[in-house]
Amino acid sequence: MSSESPRFVERQLAGWGNYPVEPCRVYRPERRRDLDDILRSLADGGGIPRGLGRSYGDASLNRNGAVIGQDRLSCLRSFDEQAVVLECDGGTSNEEIIDAMLPRGYFLPVTPGTRYVTVGGAIASDVHGKNHHRDGSISAFVESFELLTASGEMLTCSRHENSDVFWATIGGMGLTGIIVSARIRLMPVETAYITMRTDRAKNLDEALERFAELDTGYRYSVAWLDCTAGRRALGRSVLMHGEHTARDELAPAEAHSPLSLTAKARRTVRFFAPRFALSPLTVRAFNRTYYARQRDGTRRVRLDSFMFPLDAVAHWNRLYGRRGFIQYQLVLPNHTAREGLVEILDRIVRAGAASFLSVLKRLGPLNDAHLSFPIEGWTLALDMPNTGAPLLELVRALETLTLKHEGRVYLTKDATLTRDAFEAMYPRLDEFKEIKRRLDPQQRFTSSMARRLGIVDGEAGR
Ligand SMILES: Cc1cc2nc3c(=O)[nH]c(=O)nc-3n(C[C@H](O)[C@H](O)[C@H](O)COP(=O)(O)OP(=O)(O)OC[C@H]3O[C@@H](n4cnc5c(N)ncnc54)[C@H](O)[C@@H]3O)c2cc1C
Repeated sequence: MSSESPRFVERQLAGWGNYPVEPCRVYRPERRRDLDDILRSLADGGGIPRGLGRSYGDASLNRNGAVIGQDRLSCLRSFDEQAVVLECDGGTSNEEIIDAMLPRGYFLPVTPGTRYVTVGGAIASDVHGKNHHRDGSISAFVESFELLTASGEMLTCSRHENSDVFWATIGGMGLTGIIVSARIRLMPVETAYITMRTDRAKNLDEALERFAELDTGYRYSVAWLDCTAGRRALGRSVLMHGEHTARDELAPAEAHSPLSLTAKARRTVRFFAPRFALSPLTVRAFNRTYYARQRDGTRRVRLDSFMFPLDAVAHWNRLYGRRGFIQYQLVLPNHTAREGLVEILDRIVRAGAASFLSVLKRLGPLNDAHLSFPIEGWTLALDMPNTGAPLLELVRALETLTLKHEGRVYLTKDATLTRDAFEAMYPRLDEFKEIKRRLDPQQRFTSSMARRLGIVDGEAGR
């Protein structure tokens, strides 16, 4: 035990959406043993682990309490080439893994739309990629992890060892403890390229049909959707399907260094944009132009530009201005999806709530994790600027529609869900709470989101 109390800074902290912004005590430990000291000092206000803060809302915030940053604990520990299993610290970022492993011919089998997430954050959100319909979420590739629990015990968790804690921690939003390290199965790849097929769909029906036709033939699939188009163009989209390119498909110039990535683009949004920058008018104009400029067909693109297009511009979240934005991501089961999506899109178009980044994806079956988001069906993610009361009114309407169509909202994107809706959307919540009570009877791990949603005791805005 060290004699000094662990150091922290008091900061106004936010997730990627810059909403909400809350005062937190931020720790950034550099050694594993610092975590024990921090845990011991957690009496007042509890604590929540945080990776790179790419969850959008209040999942990794803890108003007036501790936030335990993991980003300095980011060591790649070992790689078992036979089993293709990498062991690394929970604070290791996907970027670090890709930079180290892609030149050796390995890639992450599931990646969200940015490489700036940590392994611990990805497991705690049970993230999905553009291949969920085929491969499932990250948990399908997690062999095991070490979890530092509230009592200070280090638990090894896998499908066979402490399996209830394993499944509660996957998608458990940091509330069961700190994922200190993890063993993840990687995927061999021959090149750092994707063969991408682009198809434009005039409306939602055409988009759903094309997805159904093409999805089985491609590992990756995703659509950008124009949320400003109404009536007969409601749901018009650009579908992108992708498959890893084999080495013998490369042109001679590319075959020289088949596994190298492009230099990372360093365009940066340096300041918060003024409020008018993303007005409904500019967004509509952007969407129209974007749709019109797309060409159907197949071409080869770099792996990173296909997987992480938004990473090309650092701090793009500042485009939404100081008040920030929310991302509302919902999933509807297959049997309600078409009708539900029409109602939801129609509501958004009528509200004139400009979302210039709207993404439609297909999800595969749900897994055994109590709070994991994906269920078999269709997921829609909408970025919407924070306009205060009008936005809140819209998200309440979307919440009602999501419930009506038997869907759910993704916690890692959430900042606004109500307790009642959350309880209805996640039927295994009581089982999760039972495991949480056993592991952490004093509720040392707590977050602003956990209090807002009633997962732990305490007032929402405390
Ligand atoms: C541009 C962009 C695109 C995205 N695309 C996708 C996508 O396609 N699919 C998808 O599923 N998600 C997507 N996300 C969301 C993102 O993948 C998740 O929010 C992820 O959890 C962020 O990781 P992080 O390390 O930043 O975690 P944070 O945001 O810091 O934390 C997220 C949660 O994980 C917990 N946590 C963090 N580290 C640990 C740890 N070591 N131990 C235990 N708990 C921990 C936190 O307490 C919190 O509850 C996207 C986000 C952005 C910004």
